[in-house]
Amino acid sequence: MNVRTRFAPSPTGYLHVGGLRTALYSFLYAKKHGGSFLLRIEDTDQARTVPGAVDNIISTLAWAGITFDEGPGKGGNYGPYIQSERLELYHKQAKELVEKGHAYYCFCSSERLDKIRAIQMAQKRPPCYDRHCRDLAPEFVAEKLRNNEPHVIRMKVPLEGECVFSDIIRGTVAINYNNVDDQVLIKSDGFPTYHLAYLVDDHFMEITHTIRGEEWLPSTPKHILLYQYFGWQAPAFAHLPLLLNPDKSKLSKRQGDVAVEDYRAKGYLAEALVNFVAFLGWNPGDTREIFSLDELIKEFSLERIGKSGAIFNLEKLQWYNQQYLHHASHERILKELKPMLKEKGWDNHSDVYLGSVIDLLKERVTVIPEFLINGQFFFVAPTSYD
Ligand code: GLU
Ligand code: ZN
Repeated sequence: MNVRTRFAPSPTGYLHVGGLRTALYSFLYAKKHGGSFLLRIEDTDQARTVPGAVDNIISTLAWAGITFDEGPGKGGNYGPYIQSERLELYHKQAKELVEKGHAYYCFCSSERLDKIRAIQMAQKRPPCYDRHCRDLAPEFVAEKLRNNEPHVIRMKVPLEGECVFSDIIRGTVAINYNNVDDQVLIKSDGFPTYHLAYLVDDHFMEITHTIRGEEWLPSTPKHILLYQYFGWQAPAFAHLPLLLNPDKSKLSKRQGDVAVEDYRAKGYLAEALVNFVAFLGWNPGDTREIFSLDELIKEFSLERIGKSGAIFNLEKLQWYNQQYLHHASHERILKELKPMLKEKGWDNHSDVYLGSVIDLLKERVTVIPEFLINGQFFFVAPTSYD
């Protein structure tokens, strides 16, 4: 089998460390099996799309050493790789489901949906569409469409029974259909939801392994159904465990940095961050902890990813960075250090001199900018003596 994996971020801002892990695992798995790794931009939520976010994602992945074989700006035989450029395809596929009786037009107003949601909440029931439009008379639907009445397209989910599927990390998963909503596939603005768009793309881009965050596990029954409705073979699924704060709450901005660019700006080495992130949920099964990207490719397997949440431990990241700094060549450190010295106007030293400063200090710093703080007097003469 020709393995094909993807990373499919929404361009809503920065690259989250959880996103970096998803990208890394997908990349490692594809490379380990001599396959292709692609980047796909999921920009179907127009309100959340942030200008510049795509470039930021691409440059951050490049910084981390995660290269993609196909994607925006790179090309490939399965493009376009940006969902907003594929709208026609999603419409065609949604119509096909309506024609086959697996999906239906829903004309409910947002006021009506708000009202039923409020009632369900008051009754302490999970919010769920009441399927009001599931069996509308075809003439009635045709009339409304002729009048251009606002609508969405929803998929039909069985009213009972269980969806049983297998996940590489979680094993056999069973989810009852009565917990699954008649998911909107095409929104009233004409854009598809994630559920339709991602799945159509994974199919036509011939993705063999869908590797994504655990937050998508409860939606997987909808996806299994959609594959059945289309008559397509579903790829293998691997849902990655959540990233947690040390107090076991979901990793959040409030307890520290979550953007890869923040760690980059703080002077962490890409190879240290990547090594650290690789271990958030995966381990090689022995005590080795230091792995280059090439070594990770060799050792990686989805089967060795754990089910339980992975704790994002900043001290461990600092430890990794120290390890990498201790073993880095002068050239490697100078590559990062020189632009910082230049910015300060402290760039009037030879590489030999800087090399000896690095040797003096490198056992004592955690991140590169600390060379400038701890070693200030090596770079610039003191201007006051009080
Ligand atoms: N666009 C989705 C997200 O950013 C992608 C999930 C997936 O990998 O399928 O969460
Ligand atoms: Zn409706």
